Amino acid sequence: RAKSAGGNRFELADPEADARAITRHGLTTALPAALDRGEFFIEYQPLVHLGDGSVHGAEALVRWLHPQHGVLGPDRFIPLAEHTGLIVPLGRWVLEQSVRQARQWQERHADSGPLRINVNLSPCQLTHPGLVQDTVDILEREGLDAEALCLEVTESALIGADDDLLKPLRRLAEMGVDIALDDFGTGYSNLANLRRLPVSILKLDRSFTQGMQQFPADPVDLKIVEGIVSLAHSLDLAVTVEGVETGAQAEQLRILGCDTAQGWYYARPGPPERLHELALVDATG
Ligand code: C2E
Ligand code: MG
Ligand code: MG
Ligand code: MG
Repeated sequence: RAKSAGGNRFELADPEADARAITRHGLTTALPAALDRGEFFIEYQPLVHLGDGSVHGAEALVRWLHPQHGVLGPDRFIPLAEHTGLIVPLGRWVLEQSVRQARQWQERHADSGPLRINVNLSPCQLTHPGLVQDTVDILEREGLDAEALCLEVTESALIGADDDLLKPLRRLAEMGVDIALDDFGTGYSNLANLRRLPVSILKLDRSFTQGMQQFPADPVDLKIVEGIVSLAHSLDLAVTVEGVETGAQAEQLRILGCDTAQGWYYARPGPPERLHELALVDATG
């Protein structure tokens, strides 16, 4: 359309799209100062064992408390930070905060088993040469075992990944860090490809969980999840499910053999103190 309008294409301008572009531009230029000013914060969402509902750890999810726009979710600014490269220092900050937080949980709940922390990695961080050393330094400085850390990488980031891209992940996995394949099932990856990847956890995308809303769930959905779980287990991968919103979903996913779960049914992402409460309730029955 715009093409056939030739020189008049500006008549097609969409004021809403313009406003969005202006906001995007504003947010992009505000990002570096926001990091310096401490406008980012992290919410933690518990991961629970499906068997008994006990807390296994938490995923760190970054937010931006913008002085004009209020709290912005990661979908609003992570792509911008990736575009400008700010994701590297921002990601390092998230990792450092989360590792420190996990260490504090462990100190307070030494009896309820080591709580683990999951941190999302963007593809840009994967290709950044400092990733392995930064991670080693942060774990050492904060005093957290590598085994307590899980780095989540999306399936789409690893599609067609060559050895250079996988090398840092292999190094981290050798150190004892778990690598999770996030949003699994959305990226059309070759299942046989899984053997090549240094991952130990599959995080089944929320779209599968949505198919379990009714009880009993759609038989085809059940078969697909059952197949993924059995393949994962046969490759020694644990399965985490995202987006569990109801007890019926939790029950069906437990029966299907999923190991851990995350979702509003258990808890929304929240401040770190929430995890103390949840783990405490757990420990005291
Ligand atoms: P993700 O890693 O797949 O995280 C799960 C998302 O699902 C989170 O959205 C979480 O709040 C949401 N969620 C959890 N339980 C439920 C549920 O029961 N129902 C529904 N409808 N949603 C649920 P959030 O916090 O908006 O994060 C979106 C994405 O942003 C994340 O997806 C992750 O890819 C990215 N992200 C978040 N924090 C970071 C970060 O520190 N670094 C990077 N690179 N990416 C991040
Ligand atoms: Mg994630
Ligand atoms: Mg996910
Ligand atoms: Mg997701």
